[in-house]
Amino acid sequence: MIRKRAAGSEPRQRKCKLRRFTAAFLTLTLFFSFPAGAEAKSRQEEYIQVGLKYGSSAVNECVLKSDDGFQVVNITEDGPEDTLPLPAYREIVASVENGTIVIRDPDGTMLVSDMGTTGALMPLDYEDGDGTVVYSGTEYRDGIRLTVYKGSAMNVINYITMDHYLYGVIHGEMSQSYPLEALKAQAVVARSFAGQNRTHAKDGFNVCSTTHCQVYKGFAGEYPKTTQAVDETAGEMMYSEGEIVQAFYFKNSGGHTQNSEDVWSAKEPYLRGVKDEYSPDYSWSATMTFEQIKSRLEAANYSPGTVESVAITGHNSAGAVSELTVKGSGGTVTLKKESVRTVLGGSDIKSTMFVLKNGSAGGSMAQTPDEIYATNGSSTKKTGSTLYVLSSSGSAKKTEIEDICITDGSSTASADGAGKSGETVSIVTDGKVVFEGKGYGHGIGMPQDSAIKMAQEGMDYEEILEYFFTDIQIR
Ligand SMILES: [Zn+2]
Repeated sequence: MIRKRAAGSEPRQRKCKLRRFTAAFLTLTLFFSFPAGAEAKSRQEEYIQVGLKYGSSAVNECVLKSDDGFQVVNITEDGPEDTLPLPAYREIVASVENGTIVIRDPDGTMLVSDMGTTGALMPLDYEDGDGTVVYSGTEYRDGIRLTVYKGSAMNVINYITMDHYLYGVIHGEMSQSYPLEALKAQAVVARSFAGQNRTHAKDGFNVCSTTHCQVYKGFAGEYPKTTQAVDETAGEMMYSEGEIVQAFYFKNSGGHTQNSEDVWSAKEPYLRGVKDEYSPDYSWSATMTFEQIKSRLEAANYSPGTVESVAITGHNSAGAVSELTVKGSGGTVTLKKESVRTVLGGSDIKSTMFVLKNGSAGGSMAQTPDEIYATNGSSTKKTGSTLYVLSSSGSAKKTEIEDICITDGSSTASADGAGKSGETVSIVTDGKVVFEGKGYGHGIGMPQDSAIKMAQEGMDYEEILEYFFTDIQIR
C-alpha cells in the first residue's frame, strides 16, 4: 500500500528544487510500472521506529491523547494497515492484560480487548500527514507503537515517517541558528544514520531518542529552518559500494579526523581520516590525580594498584593518542584507541588529540611525531628535526635525533625521532597529570564545527559531506 501524499506537505514540496519533482515522478512511474519489485514508496514516506520507553524503562500503562481521535492499526512491511477507527476518543489508556494489549477510555470502559502483542495507535487523520499524538507530555507526529515486554509491560515506540522524525532531530544535534547548508549536511547524515542504524534491532526498533543514537524531541523540536533542511534534501542518504554508510558525526576534529579502525575496530572505506582545514580551534585541558585515574580504571574492572606513572605509548597516523599506559603497584594497564576516552571519561578526555604534562611540577615532557619538547624543569624547547638537550644551568646542546629515550627513573622507553608513530613519547610520574588537547568527540565522520565553518564560507552540503566521507554517493 502507498500512502497518499500528505496534503499538508505540498507547500514544502513546492520549495524543493526542480530535480526533486523529477525524482518523485520517476519513483511514482517505477512504482506503477513494477509494483512488486521496485521501490514502492518514496523514502521520506517510509516509517521508522523510535524507542521512547523500552527494556528496563518499559511501562505498565500508557495514556495517549490526540485532538483528532485515534485509528488502531496493524504494522506491516508496507506501513500501517487500518483496523479500527476510534473517532470519538481524545484520550485512551493502554495496558497489558493476560499477555495482550487492551485499550480503555479514561473511565475504564473497554474499547479494544485484544490488540495482540503489538500494534499502533495513530491519530485518525494520520494519512494527511498532520496528526499528532501526545504521550507523557510530549507531542509526536504520526503514531505510537506498543509492544508487550516480558508479558506484562509495554515498550513505547514512536512509529513515524522518516522525514517527520528528522524534523524533530536536526535542531537537537545542530542548532537551527546555523547556516542552512550545514543543517542540510546534518539532515543527510541524520537520515543515513537512521536508515542504516541497526543497533536497536534487538530492542525491536530503529533508533532511540537520546544521545546514544540521535537526540529527538518530537514535534516540539521542530523549527522552520531545520524543516527546510530536511525538505531540501528529501530522501537523500549517503552510499558507499551500494550500501547506506554508517554516518557518524561529532563536534570538533582538532584538525584531523580519524580512520574508523583507529578508533573502534572495523575499517570502512568511507570513514578515512582527513586533514581538516576548516576546524575552528577547540582546546581543552583536564587534570587528574593518580588516585582519580586509579578509581576510573577500577570502575572499568582494571586493577592497577597504586598508580606510579602515566605514559602515552602510541600515536596513530592522524597524530592522535592510540595507546596510553598506566603503570601501578598492581600491574600495567594499557588503554588503546577509544578506550582511552571511554575508560578515563569522555567528558574529561574530550578527544584523543592530547599531550600529557606533569600536573604539579609545572614542567612538561611531551612529544608528537613531528614535535619534540625537551625541558630542564624551568624552560621548554621545541625542536623540529633537531633536538636540544638542556642542562640544569639552561645551556643547550644541539644533537641529532636518532634515538630518544625517556625514563621515569625505573624504566626506559624509546622514541623514534624520525616521526614514526607508536612510540613512547610522554611519561608523567609525579602524582597528577594534565591532559592538554584539542577537538571534541570520537573523530569519525563529519565534525559539526567544520561543517558550520564550511557553510559560512559558502560551501554547499554536498561539498561538506564529500570532504569528510570518502568516495560516497549522495542520492
Ligand atoms: Zn540508541
